[in-house]
Amino acid sequence: MPSYAFFQKKFIPLSEAKIGVMTHFIHYGIAIFEGIRGNWNSKQKQIYLFRVKEHYERLQSGCRVLRISLPYTVDELCQITVELVRKCGFQEDVYVRPVAYKSSQALGVRLHDLEEDFLAFVIPWGPYLDMDKARCGVSSWRRPKEAPQAKITGLYCINALAKTEAVENGFDEAIMLTPDGYVSEGSGENIFLVINGKLVTPASYNNILMGITRDTVIKLAKNELGIETIERSIDRGELYTAKECFLTGTAANITPVAEIDRRKLGNGEIGEITGKLQKIYSEVIRGNNPKYLDWCTPVY
Ligand code: PMP
Repeated sequence: MPSYAFFQKKFIPLSEAKIGVMTHFIHYGIAIFEGIRGNWNSKQKQIYLFRVKEHYERLQSGCRVLRISLPYTVDELCQITVELVRKCGFQEDVYVRPVAYKSSQALGVRLHDLEEDFLAFVIPWGPYLDMDKARCGVSSWRRPKEAPQAKITGLYCINALAKTEAVENGFDEAIMLTPDGYVSEGSGENIFLVINGKLVTPASYNNILMGITRDTVIKLAKNELGIETIERSIDRGELYTAKECFLTGTAANITPVAEIDRRKLGNGEIGEITGKLQKIYSEVIRGNNPKYLDWCTPVY
């Protein structure tokens, strides 16, 4: 089944969406991207886009940072996305990649005096970390100190360095620290620990991306399990002594962490709270929990 892209204001086959070699954002990483999941519900023969509005609100605020003014409102971006996913017709989990970028065929490091555009495409994509439990290593790469809190493509260079270092050291994922040595996040995920029966996660001031899955997990833990989340700075040592740990992200969903820096967490199996949250989350994102249907946009 062919994938489609929304490119230069038109829906076209993905294979035909091509960018010129002089396009500004390729050279300097000046673009904001998003990742949005469409989750297949096989009983209902339906794909639900999860919290699509929140993804485009985050894209729009990133665009303000990079001085990209898009000719679309958040509602229009949501509509474009529904139409794009519908056009592809997939009957499986999909991933939407929107990008707002400096589109001029021009060189020169700057944000100003450049044209801008928006593209999006859809691909079928299963779990990002394709193991039931991840083994993580603390990275020698730290989150940059003054980076704006936005999904800026150029900033992902550091994350890629961290990820490859981790994989080459025999881990599945990296955990990056803040410039002053506190726990920050994975290369494409936020991180949660279970300490004394509560969830603990780095706070907004710990150089994290404010994840939409992170927010979802905080709300589900409170509403469904009565578990509070504490947002605070986390010492590296707490990673080794936590009862449970998991990563959250649109691509990674909730991925349990079994081991950090070759130290097993708990008994090295999926923790009790992590397992419960995974189950609740997977029902919610597939539109199977009526309480959270506001977060789910049907495509078909
Ligand atoms: N941190 C980073 C660095 C990420 O790339 C992502 C994925 N977007 C996240 C956290 C998780 O964010 P979200 O739950 O909104 O996907």
